[in-house]
This record gives sequence, C-alpha cells and structure tokens, in this order.
Amino acid sequence: MPKVLIIGAGGVGRVVAYKCAEYPEIFTEFMLASRTKSKCDEIASDIKADLGYDKITTAAVDAEDVPALTKLIKEYDPFMVIHVALPYQDLTIMDACLNAGVHYLDTANYEPKEEAKFEYSHQWAYHDRFKAAGLTAILGCGFDPGVTSIFTARAAAHFFDEIHYLDIVDANAGDHGKAFATNFNPEINIREITQPGKYYENGQWVEIPAFSIRKDLNYPDIGPKPSYVLYHEELESLVKHFPTLKRARFWMTFGDEYLTHLRVIQNIGMAGIEPVNHKGTQIIPLEFLKTVLPDPGGLGEGYSGETSIGCRIRGILDGKEQTYYIWNNCSHERAFQETRAQGVSYTTGVPAMTGAMMLIQGNWEGAGVFNVEQFNPDPFLDVLGKHGLEWHERVGVDLEL
Ligand code: NDP
Repeated sequence: MPKVLIIGAGGVGRVVAYKCAEYPEIFTEFMLASRTKSKCDEIASDIKADLGYDKITTAAVDAEDVPALTKLIKEYDPFMVIHVALPYQDLTIMDACLNAGVHYLDTANYEPKEEAKFEYSHQWAYHDRFKAAGLTAILGCGFDPGVTSIFTARAAAHFFDEIHYLDIVDANAGDHGKAFATNFNPEINIREITQPGKYYENGQWVEIPAFSIRKDLNYPDIGPKPSYVLYHEELESLVKHFPTLKRARFWMTFGDEYLTHLRVIQNIGMAGIEPVNHKGTQIIPLEFLKTVLPDPGGLGEGYSGETSIGCRIRGILDGKEQTYYIWNNCSHERAFQETRAQGVSYTTGVPAMTGAMMLIQGNWEGAGVFNVEQFNPDPFLDVLGKHGLEWHERVGVDLEL
C-alpha cells in the first residue's frame, strides 16, 4: 500500500496519526512532519506504546518553505500529503505537492496571515494545474467543513429532489474545566469567530454583526443550547455545488462565559492581527494571546461531555415538503481514551484519515481540486461509524428553524 505524509503535529495531527496506525493494512507506513520535530516524536512514541505500530518516520519541516518541503516529499515519496498544519500553509503545500507529483488533502481553506478572510478562490485557482498533472486535491475534509458537506451530499442524493434550506448546527457541550480555552488552534479559531456573521439567502450573502442572531436549539442527547449564526467556509462551496439552495446558514453554540471572555479579549485589543511595537519588538497581539492560552491539544484529560454536529435540511421530495436531520455526537472522553486528544481534534482527524483512505482505495477519484461534497458520499459514510464517528439520521422531524 502507498505511503502517506502527514504535516502538522497538533491535536488534529495526533488523531490522524493514531487513526492511520489503527489501519496498518492500508497505512503500512507513514511520515509525520511538522515545524517542531519533538511533537512528532512524542506522538509516534505514544502510538507505539498504545497500538504497537512502529512504522512512523518523523521529520522537521517548515511547510511555508516550498523548496525544503518539495525535497522532503520527493525523498519520502508518498502517495499523498494529509495537511493538518495551519490554513496559512495550504498554498505552499499545494505548490510542493505539484512539484513532487503527489495528491493533497486538507481540512481548512487557505487564509492569508495578514487578513482574516475565508474563501476558496485561492485554492480553486489551482484546479487546472492539478488537473494537468493528473493529481487530486481534496479540500476541507475535517468535520465542518468535511462531514457536514458529505452529510449534505447524502441528503441531496437520497432524500430530496431539491434541497432548499440548509442549517448546519454545531454544538460543543463539553467541559474542560478551564475558564477560557479554544478547542483548536486559538489564533485560527478567534480570527474565525470574531468576523461578522454571514449567511446565504436567495442568491445573496447577508452580512450581520457577529453574534447578532441567536436561537436556543435542541441537540440530541444534549438538550437546548444557545446557538449563534456565524460564517463558516463550507457555506461557500455548498451553495455553489447545490444551486437549489435558497438559504444556507451555520450555527455554533457558545456559552455566556465564553462570549464574555471573547468580548474582553476584543475590547482590550488582544484579538488584533496588526503588528504592534512592544519594547522595540513587533508582535501580533493574537499570536501572543495564543502563547498564553491553554494548548487545545492538551485539553483532553478530564474533558467531559459531547459534541453534536449535523445538518438540518428542508426541501422537496415527490412534490411534497420533506425535512431531514443527520448528525454525529462525539464524546470527548472516548476520544481521549483512544488517542489522548479531545473530541474536536478527533472529529477533524477521523474524516481526514477516512478521506485519505477513499483516495487510496479509489473510491474518490478525479484530477483537479475538489470540495468533498463533489465526491460520492456513500463509501465515506459507510465506514465513518466504524472509524469512530457514528452518525444518525431522521426524516420528518421538527427542525426548529
Ligand atoms: P494546532 O495548532 O494544535 O497544530 C498545528 C500544527 O501545525 C502544529 O504542530 C504546528 O507546529 C504545525 N505548524 C504550524 N506552522 C507550521 C509550518 N509553517 N510548518 C510546519 N508545521 C507547522 O492545530 P490543530 O491541530 O488544532 O488544527 C490543525 C488544523 O485543523 C488547522 O488548520 C485547523 O484550522 C483545522 N481544523 C479543522 C476543523 C474542521 O472540522 N474542518 C476543525 C478543527 C481544526 P508547532 O507545534 O511547531 O507550532
């Protein structure tokens, strides 16, 4: 079986590495490379202790250095790169994959460091180059984007003639015992949620002040949670690929305490991404904040509760209105027992490994750059439960929206 190269050794990289090691018949050997090699070594040593898998090579690489990364890829000669470092590195890793002639998969769309702007245009612009090279680039194969996009594809393929209203609902009802912490890279997370909210309606994007639309939604096995409309990147590709959509929104739960911390962080300027002069050194406040906040990769121990992420869809089947809800609940505790990482890293890493498996086994194929909803959802969802993310669906439900 072909080798893979995983880039990034944070919480998500840890889960991808564990999950690959759990399927040695497919991932016979792999490399884990990141900026700090000791983090890769720690993960490799945990995997050897927990699973007895010892086919991991580790390496240090700056994924923004295209020549160095190209050299590493050519030397290791993998079938594909699974990129779970940061969204800042998407384009340089895509360049290196093209140089070395290997396939590419990521979990978050490219984001320029100097501007918190989330759009696929930068990566879609690589389509012709990947196509000409006969290579596949899979964009956004985490949970959201990722599984939520694949859930939508399943709904469109099997439950509706036309999907009209899509609400992606993302709850984290976990408790990690910290006053304030983010569940994935704090810099990326805070940039994302402090943006104005945005949703799609009747062919247009409607911009709203951040956290200005709130509703208490009921989540399976969790109950009611305050949920807010915010912009999330999969909305852009979903409205493109499912043009029957009249409205598409993304909801995420936030507790009052979390929002108070966030407001203070913003009000005192700590969410800023412009450099400031501190004692003669230029620093970016948000980067400094990341240094002092808890490491999301270390939240796993003692993290209780569950996440619940899914899609609530309304549309038409055989001329009649149809409603449909598809979701996964993931326990932080079970994720930690298996991988020593918390549920948000787990729900991102499992789909990334599963997407890689789809490409290796030929279930997903095509030359060019693709969002995951463009592939057949069935083989992916057939194995997702077995890989640790069991999902459920109901038709004819009250969507609350
Ligand atoms: P972390 O911050 O925990 O880990 C990021 C890793 O990338 C670290 O090991 C870091 O190295 C490494 N890295 C950063 N810059 C470079 C570089 N220039 N070259 C090489 N390695 C680098 O993040 P997470 O694991 O929480 O998240 C990883 C990715 O997953 C992010 O892109 C995030 O947006 C995405 N994500 C996607 C979700 C989804 O559902 N689709 C949900 C959650 C996350 P070092 O340790 O040295 O800093």
